Amino acid sequence: MLSIEDSKDDLIRRKRIKLVFKILSLIILIIILIYLFIYLLETHSMPFYIAFLIVLFLFLFFLGFVLKNKKRSILSLFPAFRESSKMEDRQKEYIKQLSRKPRPDILQFNYQKPLIEKCPNCGIILANFMKKCPNCNYEL
Ligand SMILES: [Zn+2]
Repeated sequence: MLSIEDSKDDLIRRKRIKLVFKILSLIILIIILIYLFIYLLETHSMPFYIAFLIVLFLFLFFLGFVLKNKKRSILSLFPAFRESSKMEDRQKEYIKQLSRKPRPDILQFNYQKPLIEKCPNCGIILANFMKKCPNCNYEL
């Protein structure tokens, strides 16, 4: 019982440390970006909106590193794909059932002549409608 509570406390502490770390890194990031903003405006005499856009881009870029959560598939955002595991299970079951039953229909197919063939005399690749090899004049 005690150990479970200890581990819970540990977990909460770890979460708090992570949160503090995140907030600190965000503050540092914002300070750096503000300095960069001022630097861009004063030393390069950049237009305000371009400096703002650069800083905004950098902020969002590094925000991704600070706020990275568990990796999540983008498909989980769409409700239609959320039950894909069920669908997969159903598909697997279906495939299992198929593989159990004997399937004579699998052998029912029409034979088609291959689209290309080799000349039996010289080995050049020919279309299947050719009657005569253009290379060696061999009658097919
Ligand atoms: Zn030939």
